[in-house]
This record gives sequence, structure tokens and C-alpha cells, in this order.
Amino acid sequence: MSVDPQTLDYLYTILQAVNAKADWKAALDTLLASLREEFVYDNVALYLLDSSGGLDIVYARAVGRGKHAEADVSWGEGIAVEVVTNREMIVREPGPSSRTDRLGFPYLIGLPLFTAGRLSGALVFVRFGGPAYTTVHVRMAALIATAAASLLAAKALQEARANLESVQKQMRLQDDFVSTISHELRTPLGFIKGYSTSLLREDTKWDEKTQREFLAIIDDEADRLTRLIENMLESARLQTKTLQFKFQPLRLDALIRDVTTRLRTHHGDLQVNLDFENVPPILGDGVRLAQVFENLFSNAVKYAPDSPVSISIRRTARTLKVTFSDRGPGIPEDYLPFLFERFYRVPGQATVTGTGLGLYICKQIILAHHGKIWAESVLDEGTTFFIELPIEPAL
Ligand code: ATP
Ligand code: MG
Repeated sequence: MSVDPQTLDYLYTILQAVNAKADWKAALDTLLASLREEFVYDNVALYLLDSSGGLDIVYARAVGRGKHAEADVSWGEGIAVEVVTNREMIVREPGPSSRTDRLGFPYLIGLPLFTAGRLSGALVFVRFGGPAYTTVHVRMAALIATAAASLLAAKALQEARANLESVQKQMRLQDDFVSTISHELRTPLGFIKGYSTSLLREDTKWDEKTQREFLAIIDDEADRLTRLIENMLESARLQTKTLQFKFQPLRLDALIRDVTTRLRTHHGDLQVNLDFENVPPILGDGVRLAQVFENLFSNAVKYAPDSPVSISIRRTARTLKVTFSDRGPGIPEDYLPFLFERFYRVPGQATVTGTGLGLYICKQIILAHHGKIWAESVLDEGTTFFIELPIEPAL
């Protein structure tokens, strides 16, 4: 066999392109650019088989004469379908056409793509108005198709790896959750058991006041358990989207005032500043939205103790914007993107109890209202939660 240096160089360029680039589209760009000196084409498109056997276009480039790639991929679809049906290459020259311009005369090459022995899609080239492809062109196209198939394998691998990482992260969070939840369940149970055992002791007589004190603690701790279990169930239902929402016209200002009043019965010394102006009614689920603000208050009480809370509502043309701010220690910026994830808790706060469900639940509720929620924070200055709710969500 004699191989000329030019061909070797060319093969080297192709293999380099396949191996070197992290981004498969950029690698495909390089591959196709390497063709152009020898093999002239107007457009190229790459189709992938989806799980139901349909073809999705995942890449298209137009190099010929000012044509826009994505808008003009219909030329390739027919032949791509034929190629994946027959599982072989098709070289097609145009038949007679009533058109007189070049676009009426497509010269097509369609190539099947095989990844690890399985048909994964098709690569299609078109040259409008000829000339016909030579044998060398056809071989080059086949070479590129093989290289493109390797790229797709790399792409599939990249996606699988990203999926795996996200599953692993979720599993880690679940693990943490199990240890947090056992701790969280044990604390109130410990109180309930301890105080009821004390009350039942036959060798001790408690005066009426002490008895009531113990019973009040048992009552509070039982409430805490109930809340915890409700949160867990709720977050599971929100995750599987089986929680029903009842949308009705409601006044957000009144709702927040109610939550604040209820909160005062437990945290009499909490200072809350309300700043509401011009608040029209919105469509929402009052019980769920109240829960959002209860969770934000519960966080403010836990993580920003002794700080006042300020809540404002402003209206824009189509939305209500709510801010909920405390003047607590704040949250380091690195952690902000994860706050709303299920089971996520900022590390290093062993003394404050929680399960990392509160903000996840808030976010799911706001999303069900087609709204947005996010947080901004400055260390040592405080944290602000922002909520944007459409006045009339398209339900
Ligand atoms: P749960 O609400 O389920 O009892 P949690 O309070 O730990 O548990 P989230 O309400 O989801 O969970 O909050 C997630 C984390 O965000 C908290 O662990 C806390 O570290 C941080 N965080 C939330 N609100 C504030 C705040 N106002 N100031 C500082 N950190 C906050
Ligand atoms: Mg919370």
C-alpha cells in the first residue's frame, strides 16, 4: 500500500478534530471545514434518531451562497428518512424540474451514522445545481460520516456523565436528608417522651402549673412533628406534581398581613415592617401562598434571629413583586444557587435545625403560579428573597 503524505495529513486533521475539541459541534465544524477544498457543498445537516424512531435535526450549516442553514433544512429530511430506513448510503442526482434556478436541482448524499454498531442518525450533504459527486467525494463523505458518528458517541457519553453526576448529587442530598430527618424527628419525640414519662411517674407529684407547662411543651413538640411530616409529604407530592392547587382571586397584602398576625402569637417580639402599595387582586392558591411566607418567616426567625423583617409589594404592568428582607448574617454567594434545591442546607450550621425542604416547597409553589423566586444576600448585611407573581397567570 502506498499512502501519499497529503492523504495522511488529511486523515490526521480529521482524527484530531474528533479527539481534541470538548464541544462536539465545534469539532464537527472543524471536520466539515476540512472538506471544503476538495469537496464543495452548499448545505449539510445532521439528524439523530430519537427514542420513538423519529428524526431530530441537531446540526445544520450552510456554506453555499448566502442560504440560512436552519431555515432551509427541509431539503435534507426526505433523504435522511430514506437513509435510516434502508440503513445505507444514498447518492441522488436531481430529476427533471419545473424550476429553472439551481435550487430546483439538488445533488444529495445521505449517509447513515452508526455508533457502537447501532444506527444513530443520518448525515446529508446537498449541492445545488451540480456538478455530480465524484467517487472520491463520496468516499470523503463516508469518512466524515464515520468521524461524525464517533463525535455523537462522545456527545452521548458527555450527556450520560452529566446525568450521572446529577443523580449522584441527588443521592448525596438524600443521604444527608435521612440523617437530618432522623435527627429532626428524634428531637421532638425526645421531648414528648421525656415530659410524658415525667408526668406519669408515680413517685412524684407535680403541681398544677408544672403539669400545664409540661403539657404545653408536649403540645408544641407534637405540632412540630406534624409540621415536619406535612413538609415531607408536601415536598414529595410537589416533586411528583400530584399536589392540587385551587386558584382563586386573592389579595396578597391581606394574605401577608394574616400570616404576620399568626406568627406574632409565637414570636411576639419579631419586628415586621410592611410596605404595600396599590396591590390589585391576583389569581392564586391562598393556602399555598401563605405557606410560602410562613416558610420565609420561619427561616428569618431561625437564621436571622433578632433582626427585623421588611416586606414590600410593588406592582408592575403584569406582575406583583414581593421582597422579603432580613438583616441577618447573610448567605455566602457560592451557596445561593442551591438554596431552592430539595434537602439543601447551607453547610456549617449544626446548631440550627431544619431539613432543607422549606425553600424547595416555596419554589415549587411559586412555579405552580407561573412566578419566580430568587434570593440575594450580602454577608453581615442580610438576605432578601424576591418573588414575582403574574397578576393573571395563564393557567
Ligand atoms: P426546613 O425549612 O425544611 O425546616 P431549612 O430551613 O434548613 O429546613 P430551607 O428553608 O430550604 O431549609 O433553607 C435552606 C437553607 O438556606 C437553610 O438551611 C439556611 O442555611 C439558608 N437560609 C434560608 N433562609 C435564610 C436566611 N433568611 N438567612 C440566612 N440563611 C438562610
Ligand atoms: Mg426553612
